[in-house]
Amino acid sequence: SDETDWEMTDFAGDGTPIGAAPMPVLAIVGRPNVGKSTLVNRILGRREAVVEDIPGVTRDRVSYNASWSGRAFTVVDTGGWEPDAKGLQQAVAAQAELAMRTADAIVLVVDATVGATATDEAVARVLRRSKTPVILAANKIDSERAEAEAAALWSLGLGEPYPVSAAHGRGAGDLLDVILDVLPETPRESTSFGGPRRVALVGKPNVGKSSLLNKLAGSTRSVVHNVAGTTVDPVDELVEIDGKTWLFVDTAGLRRKVRTASGHEYYASLRTRAALDTAEVAILLIDASEPITEQDLRVLSMVVDSGRALVIAFNKWDLVDEDRRYQLDKEIDRELARVPWARRVNISASTGRSVQKLVPAIEGALESWDKRIPTGRLNTWLKEVIAATPPPLRGGRQPRVMFATQAATRPPTFVLFTTGFLEAGYRRFLERRLREEFNFDGSPVRINVRVRD
Ligand code: GDP
Ligand code: GDP
Repeated sequence: SDETDWEMTDFAGDGTPIGAAPMPVLAIVGRPNVGKSTLVNRILGRREAVVEDIPGVTRDRVSYNASWSGRAFTVVDTGGWEPDAKGLQQAVAAQAELAMRTADAIVLVVDATVGATATDEAVARVLRRSKTPVILAANKIDSERAEAEAAALWSLGLGEPYPVSAAHGRGAGDLLDVILDVLPETPRESTSFGGPRRVALVGKPNVGKSSLLNKLAGSTRSVVHNVAGTTVDPVDELVEIDGKTWLFVDTAGLRRKVRTASGHEYYASLRTRAALDTAEVAILLIDASEPITEQDLRVLSMVVDSGRALVIAFNKWDLVDEDRRYQLDKEIDRELARVPWARRVNISASTGRSVQKLVPAIEGALESWDKRIPTGRLNTWLKEVIAATPPPLRGGRQPRVMFATQAATRPPTFVLFTTGFLEAGYRRFLERRLREEFNFDGSPVRINVRVRD
């Protein structure tokens, strides 16, 4: 729908507008079958949220919004991530690395009835050097009698094992209390560790993602694990372009051309979502030589939903003639109307044409994504706009917009305090004017309306 960037918000019980501020992230890691998704469901307060209709792919999402004791946070279920070709142990260690890089707290789940396996020990080794707090959950402790089994997990060197039965709920409240004790109130700023900015290359199969990565990386491509204090996941790739380093996230599938199950669109979409979770800006590739398809639009929706900055690269421009160009313009008007703010670049990954234009495009998009408008300036502008074009009457009453503030960046998120409902058309008008005034090219903008009763 055309409403995506306009979220009419609900409010959390404490009056905080949901979506106004980014939430801290809790990552659940551990090897398969220890009960990660059961624990996630327990945290979310429900029994069956897991979709198991496709063999080998058991999750339809990897992150969920949760709350406990009045605090909101995001839970990331790493169980949905692909076990890597390199083997289970490495895949689980990679999950842990990624969690250390992106989460604000981590829960390592171990099956206490089995005890610490070699994989558990490998992942514990990774997590022991984590600056992010780690809680050790000793799962499947279904009875008091079994609690001795939890104590054996002290051997992992991650401190006290917290006994829990994710399936039955035993100990879950205590575990959540411990988690909230270590989970910060606000998420860390992603550049606070000074690492390179993170880019996801997304698009349907065969649009040229691998070709573009190869072209950008040239012969200098390398997989580096430790740079400037940043932990880099083995599936990520650092690419230097014109002296500046970028982190291309989750490139494993692109490099190795894993075609096993990856032809499955559902599976590819999991991968895209995981990449978007980690990235700050997405380059969405569209094959300019062919009509824009539903599949392109589905990937676009995922980017929009993720709130990441966006650059659209129309690839295979070498195959575009005048006729096609004319058609494409019409398709863009029709299909991409929901993202008029996205930056667009026409490239050819195979010839290298205009590929260098991507860098200023992603830099500009990130600048918009990071932008913060001071409250005073925002309200001066708002007052003028509203005086010139007041909101339409509703039920004979004129809603008043009293005050606005930018509650968050990445993406820029505004909260408007009003005395009545603002129609969708008027909200879109305000977004348009806001974009004209402050320039958020390349970034989504969220505007939440809070109606005072
Ligand atoms: P994941 O692969 O780590 O996400 O594990 P799942 O959540 O899918 O759980 C794997 C299996 O362990 C399932 O059969 C669950 O029902 C079972 N399980 C999960 N938690 C518990 C628990 O606390 N007690 C017992 N007895 N079984 C559990
Ligand atoms: P991916 O599945 O998105 O990683 O796509 P690939 O990079 O594997 O490219 C799919 C096919 O499109 C390959 O045969 C590429 O050679 C071809 N291709 C990629 N970029 C271009 C381009 O700019 N022009 C042309 N003509 N072909 C391209």
